[in-house]
Amino acid sequence: MGRIDTLLGDITQLEADAIVNAANCTLLGGGGVDGAIHRAAGPELLAECRTLHGCATGEAKITKGYKLPAKYVIHTPGPIWRGGGQGEEKLLASCYLNSLKLAAEYGCKTVAFPAISTGVYRFPLAKAAPIAVRAVREFLSRHDTPETVLFVCFSPEVKAAFDQALGQT
Ligand code: ADP
Repeated sequence: MGRIDTLLGDITQLEADAIVNAANCTLLGGGGVDGAIHRAAGPELLAECRTLHGCATGEAKITKGYKLPAKYVIHTPGPIWRGGGQGEEKLLASCYLNSLKLAAEYGCKTVAFPAISTGVYRFPLAKAAPIAVRAVREFLSRHDTPETVLFVCFSPEVKAAFDQALGQT
């Protein structure tokens, strides 16, 4: 079995060691997957996030998962798509790489990612999926931990883009 897979579903339901949150730089919650993670984790997550004093785009910070089935949440603010000339592709790759670095530090064997930046931040899905796959493959080729990475896709369209990027079509 490969170390990377896709799944159609809701990331808040996943029993991974860590799930990744497509956060914003305040780390104080928002819409989309961020809102869903905070609702499912409960108010203690926001309380811990307040102690972190935000996070730069492309960087990552880790908290406990509280009421989530996941042990940890790794919060990474993705880039807002502004046409591609503002370093968006590099920043998106950094989100995946820095999240995986933290996951490895915390001994997470299984890590689940949403499609960072492809919602409200409008990063084109057809560009975002191959960047995500390339970054994860590169990291896994150099590290034994995490063992498995899952792309949790919230719609069939997202899943199709990631499956295509993984060459599973
Ligand atoms: P961003 O601001 O980084 O664009 P969004 O949350 O708006 O973040 O969207 C990122 C991706 O997360 C989108 O593909 C969206 O469909 C997806 N998404 C939203 N809710 C969930 C969820 N509960 N589980 C997994 N993915 C989700």
